[in-house]
Amino acid sequence: MEPELQIGRRILLGPGPSDVHPRVLRAMSMPLVGHLDPEFVALMERVKRMLREVFRTKNRLTLPLSATGSAGMEAVMVNLLEPGDTAVIGVAGVFGGRMAEVARRAGAEVTQIEVPWGEVIEPARFASALATLASQGKPARLAAVVHAETSTGACQPLEEIGRIAREHGALFVVDAVTSLAGRPLEIDAWGVDACYSGTQKCLSCPPGLSPVTFSDAAVERIRGRSRPVQSWYLDLSLLEQYWGDSRVYHHTAPITMNYALHESLRVVLEEGLERRFERHRRNHEALVAGLEALGLEMAVAAQHRLPMLNAVRVPEATDEAAVRARLLERHGIEIGAGLGPWKGRVWRIGLMGESSTPQNVLLVLAALGEAMGAVTTGDALAAAEQVLARP
Ligand SMILES: *Cc1c(COP(=O)(O)O)cnc(C)c1O
Repeated sequence: MEPELQIGRRILLGPGPSDVHPRVLRAMSMPLVGHLDPEFVALMERVKRMLREVFRTKNRLTLPLSATGSAGMEAVMVNLLEPGDTAVIGVAGVFGGRMAEVARRAGAEVTQIEVPWGEVIEPARFASALATLASQGKPARLAAVVHAETSTGACQPLEEIGRIAREHGALFVVDAVTSLAGRPLEIDAWGVDACYSGTQKCLSCPPGLSPVTFSDAAVERIRGRSRPVQSWYLDLSLLEQYWGDSRVYHHTAPITMNYALHESLRVVLEEGLERRFERHRRNHEALVAGLEALGLEMAVAAQHRLPMLNAVRVPEATDEAAVRARLLERHGIEIGAGLGPWKGRVWRIGLMGESSTPQNVLLVLAALGEAMGAVTTGDALAAAEQVLARP
């Protein structure tokens, strides 16, 4: 017989998954019930209510899809787009690029607005792309952007793009996989029509569900489609019936994952969104102070940095993979490597959800300093502690 599963303890400071609260793990060991059991149905309602609070929306169509964040992305695109539609999509890293690819596969003609990695997109570029499409008689169905681009650590401002999309009659789509519950996100106030997230980033739940929310305008768009959604599994008009009052069987919801999400949302709301954002911001600033004291350079300009994902340049002549391996083997710490054009050039240090703690900031600074062969890490720890001690 194969041996019993033994998994080592890790401190997850990469681009996700993040550390999971013990209460969430405990919730996952609750007895299994059926996916139409009254107790599970009651839980579904509470999950929807809590998701609305976290998304800051009144959207009725708010629910967790039974799949990871990429399925949220796919669901938004295949439900809102039909072959021949036009879409304007911002591409500032891997996930913007993935959005554009998913939209193209849904049959849309995609105008990509590209910026170099680590930068954010000027809202005016959305205005001119939307105006161009309108002047060609092909007004865009949607404008989409990634809020927290996890491949670069840059935060895309949303409000202005939301206003521009609305002016042009385009639905505003936002990827909030990494930003939700880690930094401010206002679905209703910022005019976001469709938004998807994931459980394993700042919600600190295991991967497996993708919270999504759709405005009335987005729902109207789905109802007004001329042909059924190509994906049966991700068809919101069917999912709405299972997650809504009629409870029509669609697929078997991952019961245990929903226990986990329920508890993680309770943990988030117990802390309070504002306090949670502040915690992420402070720990990020402490980490940056420490990294700079180690002589490292951040890859994103200060005003665009995400609090939950810190991209830091790998110094010349450093074997970046060896440093990550040492962190993992010696300290049990996972950090992320660079992707695409940043492969081999940056480390991505995540401070997401439960992983965003002062202890982890000090731990990763000490471990990174040690792994890079720094003579002393004392200055880095002192710099971080100075930020953490601020009132
Ligand atoms: C992680 C991530 C995704 C994909 O989520 P999965 O759960 O890995 O499918 C999409 N967008 C962003 C910004 C992400 O960080």
